[in-house]
Parts: sequence; C-alpha cells; structure tokens
Amino acid sequence: MVTVEALVERVHAGDLRLHELETAADGDADLATAARQQVVIGRADSVENGDLDSIANYGFPADRAESNIENMIGAIQVPIGVAGPVEIDGEAIDEETVLPMATTEGALVASINRGCSSINAAGGATARVTKRGMTRAPVFSVAGVAEAEALVSWVRDHEAQLAATAESTTNHGELLDVTPYAVGNTVFLRFRYDTKDAMGMNMATIATGEAAELIEAETTASLVALSGNLCADKKPAAINATEGRGRSVTADVTIPRAVVEERLDTTPEAIAEINTKKNHIGSAKAGSMGFNAQVANVVGAMFLATGQDEAQVVEGANAITTAEVTSDGDLYCAVSLASLEVGTVGGGTGLPTQSEALELLGVAGGGDPAGANADALAEAIAVGSLAGELSLLAALGSRNLTSAHAALGRWRPDRRRTLAIVGVCRINQW
Ligand code: NAP
Repeated sequence: MVTVEALVERVHAGDLRLHELETAADGDADLATAARQQVVIGRADSVENGDLDSIANYGFPADRAESNIENMIGAIQVPIGVAGPVEIDGEAIDEETVLPMATTEGALVASINRGCSSINAAGGATARVTKRGMTRAPVFSVAGVAEAEALVSWVRDHEAQLAATAESTTNHGELLDVTPYAVGNTVFLRFRYDTKDAMGMNMATIATGEAAELIEAETTASLVALSGNLCADKKPAAINATEGRGRSVTADVTIPRAVVEERLDTTPEAIAEINTKKNHIGSAKAGSMGFNAQVANVVGAMFLATGQDEAQVVEGANAITTAEVTSDGDLYCAVSLASLEVGTVGGGTGLPTQSEALELLGVAGGGDPAGANADALAEAIAVGSLAGELSLLAALGSRNLTSAHAALGRWRPDRRRTLAIVGVCRINQW
C-alpha cells in the first residue's frame, strides 16, 4: 500500500517530482495532497508540522479539483456572506434572491446590502443581457497588404465552412462571426462564439484552433499565435468595452426621492453630481477603463463565490455607471457591464462550495434553454453592482464612507466589532 511517508521519501530522493505524486499514489488525490504538504513543510524554514493545518483541512475530495489546480496542497478559505435578498426583474432571473459574495473586505457585504434594501424599496431593479459572445483572436502572418486582403476575403467567403469546422469540436458552442483586423503584414481574426452556459474560454480556444488549421491549409497565411491579444482576455482593453465580451449586461432602477433621503441619507442631486464628477470626469482624467465606483468589488466577490475565473475581474469590472435626476425629482441609476465573462458549467463552477453558491442563486449547471443560467448569473451580478454603486455614491454624498470602513473594515483585537456594526447600521439605517 502506498503511504504518505513512502511518497515523501521518493520525492526527497529525487525519484518523484511534485506533479507526479497523483500517479505515484495510484490516483489517490488526497494521499498525493497530504504527501505534497509534508514536502512543502520540510522545505520551508519558517513552517513546522501543524502550521498548514488550516490549508490542509479542505472540505472536498481532492479529485473534485483535478481540472482546477496542479500541485494541490489544500485549499484557501475565503469567508462568504450574502447581500439581499434583492428583487430582480430580469429576462433570465425574475425573483427575489440573495447574492453570495466571498471577500475579505469588511464593510463590503454591508454596503451592497444597503444598496439592495434601497432597490427593494423602489420595487426592484431591472436587468437585461444585451449581447453575448466569447472571443478568441488568433494572429496570422502574411507576405504583405495584398495577401492580408486576400485572407480577409477568403474568411468572408468561407464563413459557413469556418463555422462547421469550429463547431465540430463542441456540442454547445456556435460561431457567431469572425471580425478581421489587418495591420501591415499581420492579420488578426476575432472569432466570437455563443458558448451558452459555459464562460467558454477553453471551448472558444479549442474551436478556433481547429478553424486556424483550416485557414493555414487553404490560404497563404501562417498562424503566429492562437491568441493575438485582440481577444482580449485578462487585460484591460478598449475593444471589450466597445464590442463586449462574454455577456454585456445592464441593470437599472428608479428610486423615489423619499427613499434616497430616508434610506441613503442623501439626495438624488448629490448622487447624480458625485457620479458625474467622480465616475465620469475623474475616471476620464485618470485614463481609467471603468467609469464606476466599486463594480470590481461585486464582480470579484461574486466571481470568487461562484467559481468564475478571478483573473477576468479585469474586464468584468469594465463598467459605466449613470445617474440622473428624473423629471419627477427621483433618482435614475444604471450600471452597464460591457464584458462580464461568466459561466454556470465548467471551470471552477463544479467545485462543491462554488456549486452550492450557484444553487443559492438557482443557476447551478446548464440552463433551460442552454445559456439561460449564465444569463441569470450575469443579471444577478449586474444588480449587485448597481446596489454597490448606489451605496457607495450615497456614502460619499452623506459623507459617512470613512466612518463605515473604520467601524466595519478594520481589524480589532478586542473583537468589539458587533457593537461597531450596530452603531453604523443605525447611522446608515440598514
Ligand atoms: P470547460 O470546463 O473547459 O468546458 C465546459 C464544457 O461544458 C463545454 O465545453 C461544454 O462541452 C460542456 N457543457 C455542458 N453543458 C453545457 C451548457 N449548458 N452550456 C455550455 N457548455 C456546456 O469550460 P470553458 O467555459 O470552455 O472554459 C473555462 C475554463 O477555461 C476555466 O477554467 C478558465 O479558467 C479557463 N481559461 C482558459 C483559457 C484558454 O485560453 N484556454 C483562458 C482563460 C481561462 P461541449 O463543448 O462539448 O459542448
């Protein structure tokens, strides 16, 4: 029988590498993980036996994570809380729901909660996905401009063949279009797919790889790289803000003046002015890609909770917040997220805790019709983002942002935070 000690000994003897432990453990991923912990503890001067007990105390079979992590030594636990419930009038999610959020930023969930309560007092928020499409943009080399034009023409004339080739690799994915961008003797082809309930980055990459082989076989173009950065994945990029990527989704609400005054402790005029001067003028002057106050907070926390690819918070938070005083003197507020890449199947969504968080939203797994669950998740994140914008803009308007953070978000050895929460709740009427 293979033991942890025997595996550790073989690693120390140079007979096994860390990533070979699963195979050496006859596929027992938990045994391999335990052996890897011992090796890591032995190598770190500052770590002694028992020091990694929290990391080692993970609550799922290690083989459930085999497509998510290599060289596993355990799991990091991030606390998860809920904001809401919040009333959502969406195309894909039409109910009162709680929003699961995983974060270590104290005051964040309380802040979103306050926004949710204002949204509920206004009768709920509306949310819609307006565009879908996961992109992969390979880059090709050609002899010059004439060949570049010939390649673009070939792509135009063979869209059906390209679609059939790309879609031969997937049961769910559909090629929507291919947009060419030529720069001298370099040509980028931005493939866009409906990936249904999958975030779709693997799906789109595999499908595009197949299409790229066809292009190389039928034209003079030579593939330089399957990803040419015009996709654009995990980098702040204007193309995502303009063209969208994943889901483009918007949430909005009109909040009666009395609710703004009573629950948010400010006025529609103050929120509209802060939004213009901070989120629009300030962001423009700073050269920001996002024109919002804290959308990354909600996208990040809901991504972590629901098993999304956390690096895609980069483009997920690419959002514009708008706020206006209506002709009736109420507050209209909207958040438009241009490139929210979300899935309810694949990636980290199948891990036990993340899958449970998706269950809380009622969107775990494939939707009916396919794509509906990922749409619903996008709408929920958009409404959470709207709540966050309202709450932070209001905190700035009523000038109690610092007191809320000081009371909720700071580490206190005396653990008298509960008293602080009660105080801040009273101030903010949560
Ligand atoms: P995936 O885990 O690779 O695959 C999910 C698969 O689920 C789909 O390919 C699809 O199979 C199947 N599926 C079952 N029911 C479905 C439904 N209702 N809707 C859609 N698909 C359904 O997931 P992915 O979304 O393509 O890729 C996400 C992963 O890619 C994440 O782990 C992320 O971290 C990683 N990632 C990869 C790259 C890259 O360049 N490759 C870049 C960034 C992130 P069929 O295709 O057969 O239909």
